[in-house]
Amino acid sequence: MTGVGQAGRIVAVDLGGTWVRVASFQPDGTIRERARAATLREAGPEAVVAQICSLAREVVSADSWSVPEEMVVAIAVPGPVDPVAGVMDGAPNLPGWRMVPLRALVEAELGCRCLIDHDASVAALGEHRRGAGRGMADFVYVTVSTGIGAGLIFGGRLYRGGSGRAGEFGHMVVVEDGPLCHCGNRGCLEAVSSGTAIALAAGAPSAAEVSRRAAAGDQAAQEVLAAAARQLGLAVGGLINLLNPDAIAFGGGVLAAGGHFWDQMVAAVAEGSFAATRAHCKLLRSQLGEDQGLLGAYELAQDELAEGAASVLLA
Ligand SMILES: [Zn+2]
Repeated sequence: MTGVGQAGRIVAVDLGGTWVRVASFQPDGTIRERARAATLREAGPEAVVAQICSLAREVVSADSWSVPEEMVVAIAVPGPVDPVAGVMDGAPNLPGWRMVPLRALVEAELGCRCLIDHDASVAALGEHRRGAGRGMADFVYVTVSTGIGAGLIFGGRLYRGGSGRAGEFGHMVVVEDGPLCHCGNRGCLEAVSSGTAIALAAGAPSAAEVSRRAAAGDQAAQEVLAAAARQLGLAVGGLINLLNPDAIAFGGGVLAAGGHFWDQMVAAVAEGSFAATRAHCKLLRSQLGEDQGLLGAYELAQDELAEGAASVLLA
């Protein structure tokens, strides 16, 4: 029993450093009810689990303590996870979250099944099924915002790697002895080309402010952005050589800011990749906007339900 009939069983959660967004779905997979709250990030995991569960009850209109037992809650989380164990292993936007068994905590409180996965992977799945990557077998989603991450779709399926930690594109070292990254290493792409890195390098409060300064003719701001775009583009060129994808879609605030950043990145992609491999790979903008995490989490749950149904049929 796969497909549209499952939609009513799914609650999607997009857990971010700023907002917790939650949605339930119509039978056709469109969002039915949505709710959100400012993430209680300083209050720790238990408070945020309580938020997630309260919002989940809200969107399924459950008056009781538990949501229906057959419900599946799929959560996109802002950091590395062990998707098999359901454990979050730290998140740059959620200080103090180390080895949090998020899946078990949510399952215990709601009394239904829960799935968790890295937000970049979830976004890739959403864009692949419903956005920029539709119809493509081999697709990569790259997000450039406060951090940098990637989600990988190979042969139409999410690739998680040997222990579920694939996609840490932001932590490829691109500058020897470069700026310190929050992961502890030096010269990671994230420490050079993320919004956080751009703001730090320009001595500005945010990457958006650096973009404003650059647009107003500030040469120092223009140079910081050009350097960040170039390193990003060279690294993306490497991804293209390594993976030969059909397309890469880009999301996140840094690339949405406008100006020359996109063009500078694309020029460096050409420099950093083989011409024929590059010519095959479409460079696209993400299409799902702020519902990306919710729609991706929905697709994560759909895949899980479809696989569960397939294994029952095979048994
Ligand atoms: Zn790093």
